[in-house]
Formats: sequence, structure tokens, C-alpha cells
Amino acid sequence: MDEQELRARFAEWKQPAYRVGQVLEWLYAHRAPGWEAMTNLPKALRERLAAEFTLQIPELARKQGSSDTTQKFLWRLADHALIESVLIPANPALYGEASDRHTLCVSTQVGCAYGCKFCASGLDGFKRNLGVHEIVEQVLATERFKETNSKLKIKNSKCASALPLSPESKVQGPKSEEAGEGEGAKVKNRFVDNLVIMGMGEPLANYENLLKALRILNAPWGGGIGARKITISTSGLAPQIRKLAEEPLQFRLAISLHGATDETRNKIMPVNRRYPLAELTSACEFYQKKKERMITLEYILIAGVNDGLDEVRPLAQLARRLDAKVNLIPYNTVEGLQWERPAESVCEAFLESLENHKVTATLRREKGHDIDAACGQLRLKTERELAGKGG
Ligand code: SAH
Ligand code: SF4
Repeated sequence: MDEQELRARFAEWKQPAYRVGQVLEWLYAHRAPGWEAMTNLPKALRERLAAEFTLQIPELARKQGSSDTTQKFLWRLADHALIESVLIPANPALYGEASDRHTLCVSTQVGCAYGCKFCASGLDGFKRNLGVHEIVEQVLATERFKETNSKLKIKNSKCASALPLSPESKVQGPKSEEAGEGEGAKVKNRFVDNLVIMGMGEPLANYENLLKALRILNAPWGGGIGARKITISTSGLAPQIRKLAEEPLQFRLAISLHGATDETRNKIMPVNRRYPLAELTSACEFYQKKKERMITLEYILIAGVNDGLDEVRPLAQLARRLDAKVNLIPYNTVEGLQWERPAESVCEAFLESLENHKVTATLRREKGHDIDAACGQLRLKTERELAGKGG
């Protein structure tokens, strides 16, 4: 539920309007795990909330990684489905300093229907879309975990007082979209301050739930995370990219390109047959013009598949046409799949060649290879272990 829906419900219940702000503060600033924790609400109201709403908190099934590196969380949902979130410190304590910013990689579906050949998320097929609460909860549950398991205290009180919780005018009207962006930036004490929608699943195939979850995570009364700090990654659902371009919030967009010709893309990404490059490119152009925002092209380097220097020219042409930057990612091997990561020298040569073509590019010396950080891997491993145990 968003603020307006809760407001409507509390009006029906004849509750004073300020109670809405109190509940939202408990949920998003204090990450309350249950209604009984909301001690400044009258007991009768807490009981009514418990009777008419559920507050579903995902259960931590498994965790990998340590607190100063990339950490992967495997969550068990109410129906026992497993999903992953990955917490990536922007500034890991490699040089002896504490990490100060935290990016959370969030899942949007259980499994994935798109079946990219290199990806662990789609290997066991698609189970279901995540609900709005299951997307939002990944952020809250991660923060709850950090709070209980580290000395770090997230300063909730400050966070909460920075939130303009109640006045209705702030959440309606034309300014409301921007409110999230600006106020989001002011909420300094949120532990997770960057989101990448790059976990399991195809985000734009769960469009409505994703967008509602992101509006909640962005809102000043909710997560307070600026839209510009939220990146949505898609394998290339052209119609939904156009739809996203019409949204008022300024999310960042990343395209999982992985091949700059239909020939290469068709080999590894079935979605390309549905939305071939010409269609995808034109949707990206539309997005870029509408939003005046730079798009990122994600390009996994897979040995012998798309890492040849002959792939650079079409990639550079596409990147220049879209005024996009290219993010090169050496492939993370997946158990049971034959694809391999190219040698470091091959990755470096690809980057250099791309730069010679006047394209802004980065090569991710990515964090998390050792903890199965590629999307879907921890879940797959756990599902298989469980299946093994069950005979
Ligand atoms: N479905 C969306 C978002 C989730 S996948 C998408 O495809 O964009 C997030 C990113 O991880 C995508 O760019 C995807 O291609 C990439 N990825 C998947 N498996 C990977 C692997 N084994 N190694 C490196 N990147 C991988
Ligand atoms: Fe799905 Fe993205 Fe994996 Fe492709 S890369 S199977 S779209 S999660």
C-alpha cells in the first residue's frame, strides 16, 4: 500500500490522519518487523492492523560474504520461494577505510522466463512475479539484518525526522514526483542508498509491481531513495522501455546488450528474436530523448562468443548513436553451463579498442565473483541441494 491508500483506509476507520505518518515511520524509518512494535499506536489500532493486514518479512535462508565485502542474501518468502539480493559496498574496505555507500541489487521475479543462455536465473524456468511488498522488503530486510548483526547503528531518528510525513499536498500534485528525488537525497541515514534492479528476473516483465515498489522506495514517506540512484536493467523489452520513458520519475536505465549484432544476440538471448536490435535501439532512442538521460549498455564478455575485436565496431556505433556508455563485465561462470570468462588481457584489449572508437566505457573488475554473485546462482545451488536432500 502506498501513502494514499493507507490514508483512505485510515479515513474509513475514522483514525486521525497523523496515524498514517506514524505507521509509515514505523515501517520505513524503523523497519518495524511487526505491528506490536509500533508502541505509540493505541492497542486497538495495532490489533486492527494485525487483523486486516499482513506484514510479511522474508526469512533469511542463507547468506554469503562478509560485512566489508559483497554480501549475498537468499530470502525465503511466505510461499517458500527463494530469491536473492546482493549488497555491494561502493567502497569496500580494501584500503582500510569503511565503506560508506551501499548498493543493493534487488530481484523482481522468482526465476526468469527469458532464458538467456548464460544466466543462472532462468535455468529452472519462471515461477512467479514478486509482489510489491516482496520487492520493497528486500531493502528493509537487508537493513534489518545489518542493524542486528553489526555494530553499525542506522540513525533512524534523524532519518525519520527528515521525512515530511504527513501533509497531503506533498504527495499529490505535480511536485510529488520530484519530492521523492529531492527529499530522497536528504535522507542521509538510510543504509541502502543505491538500488540496481539487476537481481533475479526481468524487471520490465513485472512492470506494475516494480513501478509501485520503486515509487514507495523513492517516496519521502517511504524509502527516500532518489530516483537517480535507482537503475533498472532489462534484457530488452522494447515496448516496456517506451512505457518507462513516460514515467515521471527519472530512473536510470541499463540495457543488457551482450551483443551488438542480431547474429550474436540471437545466439545467447532468445528475447532478441521477439525484439530485434532495430526495435530495441529505437525504443532506447525514444527513452533517451524523452528523459535526456544517459543509458548504460551492459556487455558481458564471454570467451569465444562476443569478445572478438570484430564486435567492437558495431558496439561502438550503437553506443554513439544512443549516446550511451558501455559497461564491460567479465562473465561469471555458472555451474553446469559451458560458458567461460575471457582472459584478463582479452577484456582489457576489448576495452581499449572501444575507447579508441571514442566510446565511454568501463571494465568491471567486479566484486563478488567468489560468492556466486551472478544473478540466480545462490538460489539455484540451494534449490538443487534441497532437491538432493529430498531424494
Ligand atoms: N533481467 C534483467 C535484470 C537481471 S540480470 C536483465 O537481463 O538485464 C542482471 C545482469 O546480470 C544482466 O545484465 C545479465 O545479463 C547479467 N548476468 C546474468 N548472468 C550473468 C553471469 N553469469 N555473469 C555476468 N553477468 C551475468
Ligand atoms: Fe532473465 Fe536477465 Fe537472466 Fe536473461 S539475463 S535470463 S532476462 S535474469
